[in-house]
Amino acid sequence: MTSSFNNSKDQTFAHDFSVISKRFLTASTFVLRFTRNELRFRAGQHIIVGLKGEMDQREYSIYSSENDEYLEILVKEVKEGNISVKLKESRPGDLLQVNGPFGSFCLQPSDIRSGKFVFVATGTGISPFHSIVKSYHETDYMLIHGVRTSEEAYESDSFDKYRYILCTTQDRNSDHHGRVTTFLQKYSIAPGTMFMLCGNGGMIYEVYHILREKGVQPQDIISERYF
Ligand SMILES: Cc1cc2nc3c(=O)[nH]c(=O)nc-3n(C[C@H](O)[C@H](O)[C@H](O)COP(=O)(O)OP(=O)(O)OC[C@H]3O[C@@H](n4cnc5c(N)ncnc54)[C@H](O)[C@@H]3O)c2cc1C
Repeated sequence: MTSSFNNSKDQTFAHDFSVISKRFLTASTFVLRFTRNELRFRAGQHIIVGLKGEMDQREYSIYSSENDEYLEILVKEVKEGNISVKLKESRPGDLLQVNGPFGSFCLQPSDIRSGKFVFVATGTGISPFHSIVKSYHETDYMLIHGVRTSEEAYESDSFDKYRYILCTTQDRNSDHHGRVTTFLQKYSIAPGTMFMLCGNGGMIYEVYHILREKGVQPQDIISERYF
């Protein structure tokens, strides 16, 4: 697996990051919108977020587009977790501590117009792909999104319906009943396709090995592991 970019330098901000709004996509998953404060980032990167004045922070992929005036992150509340629970309870006007951006989980500038991509996500791992597709409308992609139930197809109407494949394990209201791995085992891969994998470590490990068995080269696979 390879990385394509150096990490961006951490930026210094003149103003606080302030919560603007929160919209719930399920009972436990929400999009938190806050002031951008002129933060520059590349679609696919993540930031480190916590409540202002508290030491504890966590990484979150940026969900919003490079062109939006605000920043958004897509957060799933982890029961017994610390930061995701606090972010869920946050209210408009609350101040956040934000550092970053970090990471190289981005499209190469030379590939944005000419590259062919398969994005594989589980759960909130869809977030960087949302930012990429919203930032670069011309991207040639297929997005394979694995979740438990179809209600977790977070804002899937943001994606071209012919480019979005929903895989669900606990209901059949989807394109594929089963995990992203069983879908990929039957998926035929066009030569030159680049793969970006985002979500839990188990999925990334299994998909990486399926792709290697199908002849995909390591330099054509990049990944972002959430936990
Ligand atoms: C580069 C990067 C980007 C990330 N982007 C996102 C994102 O866009 N959206 C998002 O919701 N999370 C994202 N995460 C996970 C996030 O950083 C936190 O780990 C998560 O919100 C839990 O934090 P917490 O403080 O509530 O729980 P903690 O007290 O830190 O963790 C409790 C336990 O939950 C596990 N855990 C973490 N995330 C999940 C999950 N989704 N489902 C089940 N168990 C989990 C942890 O491994 C830990 O064992 C990202 C992580 C990384 C490394």
